[in-house]
Amino acid sequence: MPMTYTRLFINDDLRSGQELSLDSEKARYIGRVLRLRVGDSLAVFNSRDGEFGATTASITKNAAVLLVAERLDTAAESPLKLHLVQGVSRGERMDFVIQKATELGVKRISAVLSQHGVVRLDATRAAKRRDHWQSIAESACEQSGRTRPPLIDPIMDINDWYGARTRETDTDLILRPYAETALASVTAPATKVCLLVGPEGGFSDKEYGDAEAAGFEAVSLGPRILRTETAAVAALTIAQTLWGDLGDVT
Ligand code: SAH
Repeated sequence: MPMTYTRLFINDDLRSGQELSLDSEKARYIGRVLRLRVGDSLAVFNSRDGEFGATTASITKNAAVLLVAERLDTAAESPLKLHLVQGVSRGERMDFVIQKATELGVKRISAVLSQHGVVRLDATRAAKRRDHWQSIAESACEQSGRTRPPLIDPIMDINDWYGARTRETDTDLILRPYAETALASVTAPATKVCLLVGPEGGFSDKEYGDAEAAGFEAVSLGPRILRTETAAVAALTIAQTLWGDLGDVT
């Protein structure tokens, strides 16, 4: 199925032959925004079941039913398990990072609060922010052909994050301006890489030190200071090119 087809992320189980009722938000989206009509084709997917062809069986203003057809063989997941740990930055910067990281095939995103971060969130707003990021990641999957949105962890203080973390990556890196090692010269990891990126104000010297003490190797992205969102996108691109699938042809 070509990627120009409408792809819808579905938060429910999917199987071939099923009649699937869409919630009113998704029904409005396919009816009003995409202007699909009865009988039109699209694809539906979720992380667990994969991707399926579908046709619209009925559409009204606030409701729609799809008929789920055959399972499709979608292969848009990178073999590299990239975990981005991003210092929380302001609204749209963070939204940009979530969207681009998803397009670039990241498997997991942890947003961490740090000393020079400008964003402070109470529990309710933090939970809302995370839901918002989750929906950005789902849309980025719809657009990019992925079936599995990255896991987005609850927002945490960076020190708590170190404490809660299970050791599961083979290569832990922190982006640090003027570090002596270039990211592009790091020896190829096996499959799992964790990448720490500072917020717009950067990390403090103490935080860079804590990261190194926790086993993160400091790596540079060249002689210019990049904005946090540029640094994240550039680093993910380098990692996917060197160790993942950005250099693959389909
Ligand atoms: N004034 C801040 C700049 C922060 S830039 C400082 O000096 O720390 C935000 C984040 O992007 C940094 O914390 C770092 O993780 C990353 N970054 C930006 N430019 C970089 C570069 N050239 N090399 C490595 N990391 C970089």
